[in-house]
Parts: sequence; structure tokens; C-alpha cells
Amino acid sequence: SPEKQTLGFQAEVKQLLQLMIHSLYSNKEIFLRELVSNASDAADKLRFEAINNGALFENDPELKIKISFDKAARTITISDNGIGMSREDAISHLGTIAKSGTKEFFSNLSGDQQKDAALIGQFGVGFYSGFIIADRITVETRRAGLPASEGVRWESEGAGEFSIEAIEKATRGSDIILHLREGEDEFLSSWQLKSVIRKYSDHISLPILMQKEEWDEEKKETVLKDELETVNQASALWTRSKSDITPEQYEEFYKHISHDYGSPLAYTHNRVEGRSEYTQLLYIPTRAPFDMWDRNKRGGIKLYVKRVFIMDDAEQLMPVYLRFVKGVIDSADLPLNVSREILQESRDVKAIREGSTKRVLSLLEELANSDEQEQKDKYAGFWTEFGQALKEGIGEDAPNKERIAKLLRFASTHNDSDAQTTSFADYIGRMKEGQSKIYYVTGESYHAAKNSPHLEIFRKKGVEVLLLTDRVDEWMLSFLQDFEGKELASVAKGDLDLGTLENEAEKKQHEETETQFKELVDKMKTSLGDKAKDVRVTFRLTDSPACLVADENELSGNLMRMLKAAGQ
Ligand code: ADP
Ligand code: MG
Repeated sequence: SPEKQTLGFQAEVKQLLQLMIHSLYSNKEIFLRELVSNASDAADKLRFEAINNGALFENDPELKIKISFDKAARTITISDNGIGMSREDAISHLGTIAKSGTKEFFSNLSGDQQKDAALIGQFGVGFYSGFIIADRITVETRRAGLPASEGVRWESEGAGEFSIEAIEKATRGSDIILHLREGEDEFLSSWQLKSVIRKYSDHISLPILMQKEEWDEEKKETVLKDELETVNQASALWTRSKSDITPEQYEEFYKHISHDYGSPLAYTHNRVEGRSEYTQLLYIPTRAPFDMWDRNKRGGIKLYVKRVFIMDDAEQLMPVYLRFVKGVIDSADLPLNVSREILQESRDVKAIREGSTKRVLSLLEELANSDEQEQKDKYAGFWTEFGQALKEGIGEDAPNKERIAKLLRFASTHNDSDAQTTSFADYIGRMKEGQSKIYYVTGESYHAAKNSPHLEIFRKKGVEVLLLTDRVDEWMLSFLQDFEGKELASVAKGDLDLGTLENEAEKKQHEETETQFKELVDKMKTSLGDKAKDVRVTFRLTDSPACLVADENELSGNLMRMLKAAGQ
């Protein structure tokens, strides 16, 4: 219906608005980056839809963003000729938050402003950040392809509600009009706006246009001319050569594509030529997103074909265990009308996925193997955030198993800390003379693993044991039998063969003890009946009187507990 309607924001939007205005005030200029980012996304969406429907361009094919201001009215306007919004679009996109993990995010807020400010940065505030400097926002928009009479005006003061009404709008796309709060007039300046655009939005591939400014000798002030100028470099960042891109530009581009306010941990940018031709710009975030463990999460790769945006979250371009990687892949070979179904079958896509996987692993190896403390710390941070995902790669990515195994880090009896910092190489370097296996124990928690009675004999002999307590560990171990020729052995399974770690005298003594206890053992076997497969004298305990062990080829106690908990 065309009449003006007033609607309420979703509860989370209200919460977000409150929190954002207070916690991000010290960084208020980011509103411009958010609105420019949305304008650029809107252009990408139009270009994509127009592949199959050229009429959407409406004789206005030059996609661009225009930023203007009005000193007298105290407004700033960000205009684009992108996809625009219908009435329904505006109601749902500007009245609710569709991001996955939204509920979880809001339940994580503590009420402590500083902590929440850091969190909100990670969540991303988007469109609503306009309310940091505006006490009213008007959006005038029309979806490409709809008639001029189906324009929409959305307006809100950023409190609890917004209004929506039909308007005539000749041009497609959106005008976002910010009515500035008292005291925010510093943004009513070409110089100020341009410097913010250059700082945050230089990587945007569309031209960002502003009116030229000129010094007027008579008025003794600068005046705006009718002529427009392009304020940014206006070429897709990933197409530029590495040497022309500053670290800050790489960082801002990451924020644009990831919707993450934090900086990336590391990135890799390459042009690949050969059988398959593509450019990849891939980032590892510093922190895991809220929905990292959501099984339906698709990953963070944007697919472009010859610089035309095709789709977000192209999950076929990265294996599932690297779903935390964000970035852009721009293919020169794929057809523009490629669909998710085609991606699944495509050999080009397979080549891209394999190439990108190798790049990410190389990037991680560079951090992990660096001599520089800063890089090492980065790897430790990576491991804390994403180590459990990487472990999935042991089972998922057989061709790269060895490389991934080298990147694994564990807690260990060597360190007396739950920090996962020990690599297989560290472990092997500390192996005792005569030790041939890599020993580990699994458990529900660090505490449980550390206090396992199975460790007693290893402590006594000074043999290190890896403590594996992540949920994914048991599954991972079923794909990892050895590392560089050294068998991985559970201290809780089968006959404990400490090999040449036992000396002759000990062996003899053990045999004698076994004979001595034979009668008792037989009695126990009879009385336990079917409840135990076997009863044995053990030398692996030093303090505990008895322990349960699993057969070499059977599920471990910990895995049985997990399966039980999962209802299997
Ligand atoms: P995000 O960009 O992360 O999706 P935002 O809060 O920035 O979140 O924007 C919310 C949604 O509003 C966008 O996903 C988009 O659908 C819509 N939107 C915002 N600005 C525009 C615009 N200029 N043109 C078309 N749609 C827009
Ligand atoms: Mg946005």
C-alpha cells in the first residue's frame, strides 16, 4: 500500500543502535565507509542480475557512487545507482538484522561498554552506523526494474521505529540522506569527506564522485562547482599490482569484504597463470566469527569472473576446514552465468580450490616457521582461534595431510599448561633414547587428560605425552596413524610396549611378578565373566591400583563416552 506506515525495529536493532552510538562514537567517521560499502555491494548485485537481464541498466550503465553535502540543510547524501530496494526489501533489510549468529552475539554482551565496544566491532554495524552522527536518516530508493512510481522513502530517528511510504523516483538505486546531529558539522566539508573516503574506501572499484571545490577570490572562501571529480582510485584492489597496494589498503579491503572491524591476521595476494587463470586475495581473520561452528556456514570467499561480482560465500572455492578464510577469487575462465551447481562440477573450480588451499597452507607455514617472535605469536593466535577447524583437514584433505600435521599444536605433559603449543617436531626433538612412538592421551578436558592414571608410568620414565582434549581429536586421530614414520600410540590402548625404554632387569622382574599374581588374575577373570575381555598385570601404574584399557583396535574410552553422549 502507498500510504505512510510506521513500523517497529526488531528488538536486536534497537539494542544495536543504543550500543553503537555510545561505543563507536570515538570512531564515528566509519559511518561513511559502511554506507559506501553498501553502495558498492548494491552495484555488484545489479551487475550480477543484469547478466541475464540487461534491461535493469535502464540506459544508465555507468555504475557509480556520489557523495554530496548541504551546509544549510546540514545533510550528507550518499547516492548510488545500484540495485536499490523495493518496499519489502527496505522493511526487512533496514528494520531487522539478518546476520547469522545475531542472537548469540546479543546474548554475549556484558553491559560493560568497553568490552561490548570491542565485540560490536567484530559483529559489524553496517547501515545503522549512520546514526552515530545523524539524528535522522532518510533513504529514498527504487529497485532496478520497478517503475518510477514504486520508489520508497524510509525514514527513522534511530529510536524504536521507522516510517515507510511510496514516492516517485526517476532513477534507480538509493540515496541515503543523513541529517546531522548537533555538533557534527565538521563533516560538512569537501576536505573532511574526501580524506575519510581516501582513508577507508580507496579500494572500492566504482568511482566515488564529489563536486569539485574552488577558491573564490571575491567571497574569500571555497565554493562548490558543478563539475564532478573522482575521489578514489576506482579500480578493483585485487587487480592492482602488489607493490601499488599499502598494508592499510589491504586492511581496509578486508574490512569491506569480511564485515569484520578487526584487522586481518595475515593475507596472500597472487595472480595465478597456467591451465587455470585467476587472481586470489585471501585473508586469515584475527578472530573466529560467532558462527564459526555453525554447520551451515558457507565460508567467506567472494567469486568474481573478470571483475564482475558473481556470488558471496562460494563454498566450492575453499575446503570446509578452511571456511574461516575470507577473500576474493577472480577467475578469467569461468562463464559469467556460472551457478552454484556448475561450480560443483567444474574442473576449473577444482584447480582454483587446490591452488587456494596450498596458498593458505603456505601462509600458515610462513607464520609457524618464522624466526620472528611477532609471526610466531600470530601463529599461536591463529591456532587458538582456528586450530580445531584446521584439525578437520587431517581427515578431509588427504593430499595435504602431511603439511597440515606439521601445523598441528598440542598441549603436552612437557609444559604443564593447557596451552596448545607443542608440534610433532617439538615432541620428536625431545624423545628419549630408544623411544620410537609418539604417545598421546585423549580426554574430555585438559584436567582429565593430565590426571589420567595411564600417564603414571610415563611420568616416572620422563617420557612426554601429548594431551588431546578437543572434540575433534578422536576423529582426527582415526586419520593420523603416524608422523614422519613415528607411530602415534595411545597410552590407554592395548599392551603398553615401551620398547627399549625398558631395560633387561625390569623385564625379568615384570615376568616374575606376572607369575606371582597369576592365580589372582585368573580369579578376577572368572568373577568378572563377560564384563571384561581380559585382566592383566600392569606396570604402567605407579600410584593407582587399577585402570581400564581399550583393545588396540577398539574405540577408546573417551570416544565411547562421546558417542554415548551423541546418542549412538
Ligand atoms: P550488510 O551490508 O552487512 O548486509 P548493512 O547493515 O550494511 O549490512 O546493510 C543491510 C542491508 O540493507 C544490506 O544487506 C542491503 O540488503 C540493504 N542495503 C543497505 N544499503 C543499501 C543500498 N545502498 N542499496 C541497496 N540495498 C542496501
Ligand atoms: Mg554493509
